[in-house]
Amino acid sequence: MCMFGKNKNYTESTPPHVVNYKDCFIIIRNAPCLECKQCGEKYYTDEATEKIERIVETAQKLMQEISVEDYKTAA
Ligand SMILES: [Zn+2]
Repeated sequence: MCMFGKNKNYTESTPPHVVNYKDCFIIIRNAPCLECKQCGEKYYTDEATEKIERIVETAQKLMQEISVEDYKTAA
């Protein structure tokens, strides 16, 4: 986390999270992240990071070229 983020100078946002895996794109919508107001860097909480990893693993098994998952409805 950057200097400004550490000072809690961030805002919550849910931009689409795009993962590029081999020839596949996995897009996760609604993943909660913290965006630094100063430099725009994005941070995910440990909980969100773990869940995103699980979603990506599941999507990789399907091996579609483009997979769009929703953070809120994914298991
Ligand atoms: Zn920053």
